[in-house]
Amino acid sequence: MWCPRNPTVLLDEFIPLSWVGRAGIMSRNVSASRALKRLVLAPALDLLRGTHTMRCLKELEESQWWPQERIEQLQSERLQRLIHHAYERVPHYRRLMDACGVSPDSIRTAADLSLLPVLTKEDVREHCGELLAEGFPRGELLHGRTSGSTGTPLAFYSSRENRWSHGYARSLRALAWAGVYPGDPVLHIAGRRRDGFVEEAPFNRLVRFLSRDAFENPVDFSDSSLRRVVDRVAALRPHALRGYASAVCIIAEFIRDSGLQAPEVGAIVTGGEQLLDVQRALLRDVFGTEPFSKYSSFENYDIAMECDAHAGMHVAAEDLVVEVVDDEGKPLEPGRLGRVLVTNLHEYGFPLIRYDTADESSFVMGVCACGRSLPRLSAVVGRVGSAIYTPSGKRLSTNTLDSSGLVSLGIRQFQLVQERIDHVTVRVVTNSILSSRDAQTLITSVSAEFRGWIGDDVLVEVAIVDRVELTSAGKHLYLISEVKRPVGREFS
Ligand SMILES: [Zn+2]
Repeated sequence: MWCPRNPTVLLDEFIPLSWVGRAGIMSRNVSASRALKRLVLAPALDLLRGTHTMRCLKELEESQWWPQERIEQLQSERLQRLIHHAYERVPHYRRLMDACGVSPDSIRTAADLSLLPVLTKEDVREHCGELLAEGFPRGELLHGRTSGSTGTPLAFYSSRENRWSHGYARSLRALAWAGVYPGDPVLHIAGRRRDGFVEEAPFNRLVRFLSRDAFENPVDFSDSSLRRVVDRVAALRPHALRGYASAVCIIAEFIRDSGLQAPEVGAIVTGGEQLLDVQRALLRDVFGTEPFSKYSSFENYDIAMECDAHAGMHVAAEDLVVEVVDDEGKPLEPGRLGRVLVTNLHEYGFPLIRYDTADESSFVMGVCACGRSLPRLSAVVGRVGSAIYTPSGKRLSTNTLDSSGLVSLGIRQFQLVQERIDHVTVRVVTNSILSSRDAQTLITSVSAEFRGWIGDDVLVEVAIVDRVELTSAGKHLYLISEVKRPVGREFS
């Protein structure tokens, strides 16, 4: 297999982007800093890098208000072009389509994609060399890898144009929905370093220097490191606080429990893991602002984010085809939970068609109050090892758990561990230290809460713990299942 000589780049969903400008409508009260970044620095950096972020952003700013049919038409045109390219230039797809008897002309819209099989991470691992497009300039490809926090690490490639022009533009548009514009100070709660994290290229360090992004790593989330983070937030007064939901929530809990005054933050943008209702409530209470949940991945960069209606995450459908499918790869109707597949319409160097993200979600029905017709995804949860199977044939993901009842019980964090098909342990962290009598009462209440969701055929045990351990990547896993899906059984 060919290996690129490019330095490996940092593929981080929280990569700072505020050095790039926004070419959209300029309001009268826009700050001088914003104007400078948008009109001078961003175009200069585009020129320096040979990217087209500004042009892509301008297009996305316009197309977000198009009617659904027009967005779908653009998506279909881009899809047809990508499929023809894949057939002509990508050995894996040529072989696959020939074997399936599918001609490139037969895939005209997103709905036709189900003629092709799903591309799993295992497929990418096995056919990595064959997924590279013949004749694509190797110098234009970036090498990335996933951290493997929810599975085995995965190496992949991405074209510079796809990531640095289209991907960055998607991220900028999404951040603007939260009222965060290029040049605005943003504090990133970076959590722990991910496995396989690489040193940044000097150019990236320069970009970070020019931006007004700041980073805080609470490291061990000790009281002293959390106090330092809170002081930094208060001093910076960032327009946005960004990070994993669990990391931002630990800070919020610390503020609340220490009786500190919450520092001012413009917006809170969480990503990388599901934002639960209980966490939303916490962030709203502490910071007085409704958080924005964002869905992104290493492989496809920004995929979807909430608008200010906070009623699901709008998919960037101009750039991506996102499908929600059943176990056989058949599309599911809105409201039904299934596997999330992504086809990136701008990736010509290493196309991933119907790429299985290993996440689960469902499409939201109806029209969003914001007026955008971009489709919406509900909360996204990791799929690998993240479902509870019950002896009676139920299949549950944390997506379907209403965690609001836990707030009134004084639960700060929880984690479910299914050790056997008929046994689940619920680990809970409480807001305060309880007497043994109160602890027993709480255990009974929490047990009842979860039994109502899981059912009576699973024994639910509750354990009060001091802390829920994060993964090496700093993620909080809400569900750890040691039970594989039973073979030959139907689950609903
Ligand atoms: Zn909306």
